Amino acid sequence: MRHALWAALTALVLPSAALAQPVLLATVGMIADPARRIGAGCVAVETLIGPGLDPHLYQARPSDIARMRDADRIVALGLHLEGRLADVLARVGAEILGDAVPAEHVIDHGGSPDPHLWMAPALWATTFPRLAEVMTDLAPDCAEAIAQARDTEIARAEALDAWARDSLATIPETARILLTAHDAFSYFSRAYGLENAAIQGISTDSEPSIADIDATATLAAERGIPAAFIETTLNPRAIRALIEAAAARGHVLTIGGALHSDALDEAGTLAATWPGMIVSNVTTITTALGGTPLPLPEGLLP
Ligand SMILES: [Zn+2]
Repeated sequence: MRHALWAALTALVLPSAALAQPVLLATVGMIADPARRIGAGCVAVETLIGPGLDPHLYQARPSDIARMRDADRIVALGLHLEGRLADVLARVGAEILGDAVPAEHVIDHGGSPDPHLWMAPALWATTFPRLAEVMTDLAPDCAEAIAQARDTEIARAEALDAWARDSLATIPETARILLTAHDAFSYFSRAYGLENAAIQGISTDSEPSIADIDATATLAAERGIPAAFIETTLNPRAIRALIEAAAARGHVLTIGGALHSDALDEAGTLAATWPGMIVSNVTTITTALGGTPLPLPEGLLP
């Protein structure tokens, strides 16, 4: 009797399904968020580098090493995104999702691959089959559910891509220049026909130089660029310096808003999910550059 009662209580407090779920640890939220939906009910997905943190600069803490040891699988983006974690990720045998993208689609910046693949939804969706495979390995009984959820997420990414394209197309031709602090938007700009002007290279590892800021300010003044964008994971100092440098050239450059480049936002905000991050960025960019974002299709956001 006591045993039966104990078993009943344990079942209430600790559902066996939750206990049995394998753990997939993703380095960044842009991987963890779609993974969470693809593996829903079958794989527990965690994020190593939390909301608002810069993966280029992130260093592993002792607690992170423990989380990596306890995870059943680790998925990283690679392509030098998690620059300071590269050694430890290699040691723990992390799955590198960036390798799932055919090399001809990866943008090369003078010998360095650009890791910001998630910015172009159609391209990012090409990594979902690999993500689904990893999860099916962890939870083979869930193969069918995972395959279905994968297809749903690919369809969502395609709808997101179409909405982004149509919204950004409303920006006047002369204002189609995206001016940011670091070069996170090359895939985005390539996908949607914007010109990309960043003060700094693809990593945030070093501070932009005064020469970089002056050159960008001259470009902004010559081209009449109306707005520059700050990024939620970066100190806005470089963009403020740019605005001052543009003013010294007689050009009024405004802050177009804050973009989510390398991390998702806190739970409960629009950019807490990957599709929400894209919607937030497209809305901010379209509006600041003189366009009008289209109404969101139903079901686009998770
Ligand atoms: Zn970046």
